[in-house]
Amino acid sequence: MEAQQQSQQPHILQNSVVVFSKNYLPLARINIKRAVVLLVTGQAESLEFSSTKLWEVRSPNVVLQVSEHIRLTAGNPERHWKVPPVNRREVLKRDNHTCQYCGSTKRLTLDHVIPRSKGGQHCWDNVVTACEKCNSVKSDRLPHEVGMVLKTKPKAPIHLAVAFAEQFWSAQRLSESE
Ligand SMILES: [Zn+2]
Repeated sequence: MEAQQQSQQPHILQNSVVVFSKNYLPLARINIKRAVVLLVTGQAESLEFSSTKLWEVRSPNVVLQVSEHIRLTAGNPERHWKVPPVNRREVLKRDNHTCQYCGSTKRLTLDHVIPRSKGGQHCWDNVVTACEKCNSVKSDRLPHEVGMVLKTKPKAPIHLAVAFAEQFWSAQRLSESE
């Protein structure tokens, strides 16, 4: 059945749908087949803005209108997330397992940008991934004192869904101003 659907409506099934949480936070982009499953099982409902596109997905018995935006009818996935602790595993993950001074991916350690001996805190905006070499060159000094520059300004990681939401709304604003 699925193969037949695909051959009849190849272009429709290539579309993707944005899923919103119950609280209208855009969470992720999913493919239309997954959206159909959420809609027919009652886990989501259509959400229609003035600009929302609708697609008709046909199976032998049913014609389903699938809108470009759907909203989950239960659960608040974003509510269960909190900022992870500042530890080696989480910091390396945030920094993509890359030394924030030279870009090396080997022999990684954690560095306090402002050294603890100078009052630097063990917090997300003061801890970065550094390779052993950079860490020992920098030692107990500030980056600028040894001519080192951070690749990115360290900050706490944000929930994937929140990151997606920010990206989604800024894309919406861009398309509205066109
Ligand atoms: Zn390095």
